[in-house]
Amino acid sequence: MISEKTKRLMSKAQTGRKHSKATKDKIRLAKLGKKRKPFSKKHKLNLSRAKIGNTNSLGFKHGKIIKEFHRKKMLGNSYHLGVKHTEATKKRIREASLGKKGNNWQGGITKVATSIRNSARYKKWRDAIFLRDDYTCQKCKKRGVYLEAHHKKSFSFLLKKYIITNNKEAIECKELWNLDNGKTLCLDCHKLTNNYKQKANVTKNKSIIS
Ligand SMILES: [Zn+2]
Repeated sequence: MISEKTKRLMSKAQTGRKHSKATKDKIRLAKLGKKRKPFSKKHKLNLSRAKIGNTNSLGFKHGKIIKEFHRKKMLGNSYHLGVKHTEATKKRIREASLGKKGNNWQGGITKVATSIRNSARYKKWRDAIFLRDDYTCQKCKKRGVYLEAHHKKSFSFLLKKYIITNNKEAIECKELWNLDNGKTLCLDCHKLTNNYKQKANVTKNKSIIS
């Protein structure tokens, strides 16, 4: 047994002395494979607290979460998940899909169409068609029945073609009042045409010219 006094003396004698390379290797080899003591709960908590707000060392688990977030973000419709438009952008999108720019904009044209159909100019055109056709359905040749003036090129098609947005523009549009574009038909025959009233909208202008 080495006494406490001798230990102290030995320690003092070693102070300031450096290990030789061989000794260093020996120490290193002795330590290899030895596990460090597990961290105590308190120490773990301290480590964890020290990392709060430190974005440089969020670790593997966090990286996985971020990766998953970006993956979901890239999926189909959720591409913009979490990305919010600014008010200005929202306004721009709203305006772009409104009015004349919108593909499905029918409200305006329907209103204009109704207004024109009720105008004196329209009644004049219709009467001219009836007179020319001698008040006879040009398909079934019936007379004395309820008659309508059929547009060969549909009325709404022409409004769209010439971008007519009011009665004044309609009156100035020559093709709209071209008698060659009109034909007298009885209601039944008119209903069979491709562009009869709502049918034109349903078929999406597929065969607007009948
Ligand atoms: Zn008919």
